[in-house]
Amino acid sequence: MGMFDYVEGEFKCPTCGFLLTDFQTKSGDCIMDRLDFRWCDYFYAACPECDSWVEVCLDEEVRTRIYNEMRKLRESLTADHYEVSAEKYEERYGEKLKESEEEVSNLLKDEEEA
Ligand SMILES: [Zn+2]
Repeated sequence: MGMFDYVEGEFKCPTCGFLLTDFQTKSGDCIMDRLDFRWCDYFYAACPECDSWVEVCLDEEVRTRIYNEMRKLRESLTADHYEVSAEKYEERYGEKLKESEEEVSNLLKDEEEA
């Protein structure tokens, strides 16, 4: 399991002006994926030129606007926007149920023998 995701973007180090291109974030799925910076609100890098810890944060106002737009869209959803699927409960869980039933009966047997 990864610890972070890579973020692709170009930002200048505020200390020395070095153009940073390799960032990391923990706000994604953290599966060592490569993300476009537009999908991240917060990411960081260590500047190889001046050893500064550089953090990049999406503007609070923009973040609020995105959140509000998303909420508006979500609130406009109806049941028609969802796909409903089904399968027989037995087909999905039958094998598992049988396994745990066997486990329980084995445990009971062990207990009787002990
Ligand atoms: Zn720097």
